[in-house]
Amino acid sequence: MRDQYQRPAKDLRISVTDRCNFRCLYCMPLPEYAWVERTELLTFEEIVRLTRLFVRLGVEKVKLTGGEPLLRRNLEGLIAELVTIPGVRDLCVTTNGALLAEKAERLRAAGLPRVNVSLDTLDPEKFRRITQGGDLARVLEGLFAAQRVGLYPVKINAVIERGVNEEDIIPLARFALEHGFALRFIEYMDVGTVNQWRWEKVVPKAEIARILSRAFPLREVGRERESDTAVRYQLADGRGDIGIIASVTEPFCAGCTRVRLTSDGKLVTCLFSADGYDVKALLRGGASDEEILAAIRRVWEARRDRYSEERWEALRAGQPLPPRPRLEMIRLGG
Ligand code: SAM
Ligand code: SF4
Ligand code: SF4
Repeated sequence: MRDQYQRPAKDLRISVTDRCNFRCLYCMPLPEYAWVERTELLTFEEIVRLTRLFVRLGVEKVKLTGGEPLLRRNLEGLIAELVTIPGVRDLCVTTNGALLAEKAERLRAAGLPRVNVSLDTLDPEKFRRITQGGDLARVLEGLFAAQRVGLYPVKINAVIERGVNEEDIIPLARFALEHGFALRFIEYMDVGTVNQWRWEKVVPKAEIARILSRAFPLREVGRERESDTAVRYQLADGRGDIGIIASVTEPFCAGCTRVRLTSDGKLVTCLFSADGYDVKALLRGGASDEEILAAIRRVWEARRDRYSEERWEALRAGQPLPPRPRLEMIRLGG
C-alpha cells in the first residue's frame, strides 16, 4: 500500500485517550476542552482488530500515545494483546511519566519492551510551569522505575522552546548520558490551534547542535532509517544516544510512513490534518475485515500530506502560514 508519493504506512500511532493530567503550554494549555465521550473511545478489542488489519497493510511499529496513555485504565491489558500480534516488530508507549513509577512494572510484565518519557527541564519550578502543575520528582522516579524493570531503551523527549528551556539542553544531555537514557530534542511545532506557536519560538536543530557541542564533542551519525524522525548524534568515544527531531527546519515528510488513529477512532494521515476518516463507524456498523482494509487503503492511497515541507517553504519565502483548522495533538497522538 503506497500513498501518492510512494510512501508506505509502517508506523501506527494510536491515541488511547485524549485526556491528560498535565496541561503543557506547548500542547494543551486549556483547562477544559470538548473531551471525547467514553463511549466514543475505541475499545481495546477495536484497537487490536484495527492493529491486525494495519499490519496486513504493512505496519511494523506501534506507538501508544495520547493525551496521557497511562490514564487509560488497564493499558497493560491492551499491551499484552498487541505484543502477541505477529508482524508487530516494535511497540512503545509515549508518556509524560507522572504515573510511570506505579505502572512500570505492570507494563513490563505485560510485554512492553520500551518507553518514551517527555521531560523538558530538570528544574522543578520550571517543570511545574511548563506542564502547569506537574511534579518533576514523580517523573524522575518514573524514569528510574522504567529502567529498573528493564524497559529498554528509556528515551527522553524534550521539546525546546526559545526563551523557555534552551538553557536546559546541556543539563538534559548530561543527565541522559550519565544515566544511560536515550534523548531526543524536538523542535517546537505549530501543532493544534491553542499553543500560540510562532516561528521565533523555534530553536532550530543547528542551534541545538551548536549548544550541545559546547559541552560535548559530538558526531552526527544521521538517520537509522529514512522514516526515522530523529537525526542522531554520538559522543566522539561512541557513547550516548542523542538525537534531534527537526520537524520545522529539516522536514522529513518525504520519508513519512506514520499513520494515526485518534482516541475516537478516526484514521489520520498527518499530524497537521484537519480531520480524519471515521473508521470506528465502519467497525461499529458491522463492516467485514475486507471492507475495512479497502477503506484504509483508499484513504492512504489518496494521501498527499507534506505539511512540514510546505511550512518550511513558506517560512523561507517569508510568507505567512495559511491559517488552517487542525486536530489538537491530544486527540491524534504525538
Ligand atoms: N502525554 C504524553 C507525553 O507527553 O509524552 C504523550 C502525548 S504527547 C502529545 C506526545 C509528544 O508530543 C510529547 O513528547 C510532547 O512533548 C510532544 N509535543 C507536544 N506538543 C508539541 C509541540 N508543540 N511541538 C513539539 N512536540 C510537541
Ligand atoms: Fe499532556 Fe503530553 Fe500534551 Fe503535555 S504533551 S499536555 S503531557 S498530552
Ligand atoms: Fe508526516 Fe505530516 Fe509530519 Fe510531514 S507534516 S512528517 S506528512 S505527519
